[in-house]
Amino acid sequence: MLAAAGIRRPNRALANPNGDPSPSPLLLGVDYYPDQTPEALWDEDARMMAEFGFTNVRIAEFAWALMEPVEGKFDFSWLGRAVQTLHKYNIAVILGTPSAAPPPWLTAKYPEIVEVNAQGAPLHPGGRRFTCPTNKTYRRLSLAIAGQMARTFADAPEVIGWQIDNELTLSSSPRCYCNYCQAGFQEWLRSKYGSLDNLNRTWGTVFWSQTYTDFSQVPVPLPSGGDPNPSLALDYNRYQSYANTSYLEEQLAVLRKTCPRHFVTTNNVGLPLDLIDLRSLYEKLDFVAFDNYPGFFEMLLHEQSKSSPVSWDYIYTATALGHDFARSLHGKPFMIMEQQSGKAGQRTFSPQPNKGQLRLWTYQTIAHGAMGVNYFRWDTATFGAEEYWHGILNHDRSKSPGFDEIKQTVKELKALGAEVLNASYPAETALVFDYDSDWALQIQPGHSGLSYTSQITSWYGAIASIRSGIDVIAPGADLASYKIVFAPVVYVLSEAQAAKVRSFVQSGGVFISNFRLGAKNEFSQMARTPLPGPLRDVMGVTIEDYVPIDSAKQSVKFSSALAGADGECGIWADVLQPTTAEVLGSYTSGAHAGRVAITVNSFGKGRAVYIGADLDPASLTRVLRSFSVLAGVKPLLDVPSGVEVTVRRSDRKQWIFLLNHTEAAQTVNIPGPHTDLLTGESRTGSVSLGAYGVRVLQAS
Ligand SMILES: [Zn+2]
Repeated sequence: MLAAAGIRRPNRALANPNGDPSPSPLLLGVDYYPDQTPEALWDEDARMMAEFGFTNVRIAEFAWALMEPVEGKFDFSWLGRAVQTLHKYNIAVILGTPSAAPPPWLTAKYPEIVEVNAQGAPLHPGGRRFTCPTNKTYRRLSLAIAGQMARTFADAPEVIGWQIDNELTLSSSPRCYCNYCQAGFQEWLRSKYGSLDNLNRTWGTVFWSQTYTDFSQVPVPLPSGGDPNPSLALDYNRYQSYANTSYLEEQLAVLRKTCPRHFVTTNNVGLPLDLIDLRSLYEKLDFVAFDNYPGFFEMLLHEQSKSSPVSWDYIYTATALGHDFARSLHGKPFMIMEQQSGKAGQRTFSPQPNKGQLRLWTYQTIAHGAMGVNYFRWDTATFGAEEYWHGILNHDRSKSPGFDEIKQTVKELKALGAEVLNASYPAETALVFDYDSDWALQIQPGHSGLSYTSQITSWYGAIASIRSGIDVIAPGADLASYKIVFAPVVYVLSEAQAAKVRSFVQSGGVFISNFRLGAKNEFSQMARTPLPGPLRDVMGVTIEDYVPIDSAKQSVKFSSALAGADGECGIWADVLQPTTAEVLGSYTSGAHAGRVAITVNSFGKGRAVYIGADLDPASLTRVLRSFSVLAGVKPLLDVPSGVEVTVRRSDRKQWIFLLNHTEAAQTVNIPGPHTDLLTGESRTGSVSLGAYGVRVLQAS
């Protein structure tokens, strides 16, 4: 399976007790904490995990204090015994390097390694993820423990791979603003711009008398009595992403050299969170590994929204967006390193998932391209900040409410086997996600209600209703394999990215974008040409005015080509002046009544659509769907609302995944005879789905 996924084959990994390599090693495991568990229980735990069906564990990613109790004095004896105990039951091991949480001796001796937050205040030891990504001392100490671990376990037959660190930047303070980061930023800028003249010109530092005469004068965007230079602020986001990625890559280099037969990855959470450029972070790793907690996500949103309920349609759609993003990062199957297995939380509990949801959420990862799943966690901690994160065993080591359901799911996934779990995920549709546009809009949203990730999530939801595969791609990606590309709020657009879009449309593709297209270049300077900047000819329009909307309501009337009820325009209205484009919608009220809101332009063999209005969800869905039909994208199946359908393919076979995210029974019509791989039943005509039910169908 690992080879099929294009990753390193582990050394003797997952061999059975007879020493024969397993023909189909799978990554269906659990996160385990022998460092937090009395040694007398390790054997029982390993035996129970094996009986449960787990193939592997991830361990040690927060155990620095036990592995290096004194600086330079390493003790891996306990970890070696834990690894051997697991191996006794044929459970393979993914080791985590422990740099997300340094021990107290380290912060006492080197207090300068702590992060400084966006208000300029240093963080304090006691939690986790409170260290600076630039600080050379912390990098040296992180490398020392990772290197010693690697040398100790390089030839251990039980170890198959590594997770570097844990959830880089995922904390209440995702950026560091310390003096070390300032110096690192200045070096990064020197490398990027070459000269101060170039930097001053590109950033426009003449504004507010910010012209720098030495790189050492360049500040970080801490509070300074006024908003920072937008170009500096965007570059600082990029620098922080670079600093974290290069921090990870230092450990990666040691692991590659010392453990060449092991795979190496890291874990993080993907969209709609956007703290670090995950395309860069995962670029040199063997495969992508994400953490997945839909119930915890629901609780967070519920707490943020106070009393208003959060729709499960939104939760499962946003979760699917994260999975499609994970798969698209490397364009191949990914792993879930932490999968919710019960109630979860730090200070408050997310509710116990309803019966069937733990299984459903696991299948949702597989349906979107996961090849393996590790559940978080085996037992539930009785001490520490994560006592509320329930595992497969309760605090008293009895079976959790999800125990039997997860066990059944693991059994089913093993039966599905490597061919299904490694299958590809076909997509004719792409959604562009761009960190530059996201971060630049956070710096200057233009409207207090305008959020890039909200726009991405609502566009993804609209596109997902088409029921076809979606890749989530970078701007500037190769577009040739797609029939239609959706790109909302492309606030930052380079000439090179525009050239890709022009070529795609010229060759017959359909490109759909909306307001703020091309407003800034990649240096965060406003376009000096009429909008939409370098894509004016492709879109066939000029933006006559752009209008943030507070209280005045605007409506949009659609032309016969998009026939439907009038739409509502939310927080933004671009007023369009078609040059070669055809009008598809106009504003009907307010100061811009009668002016153009939506256009389509024929360009080369393709078409380009500009949606100037911030359309309400129903209208947006109808408009995006109509152009998908025009582009020749067909639904995989017609399914009821609340049901997902995806397809995975191998060279010779195809599997349909049906996922019912509702508590109501659903029926889906299927084309021709199919076998349900989970039940073995033959089905023709239609299949039923119970509450939170799942079907995996293969054509008979
Ligand atoms: Zn720092």
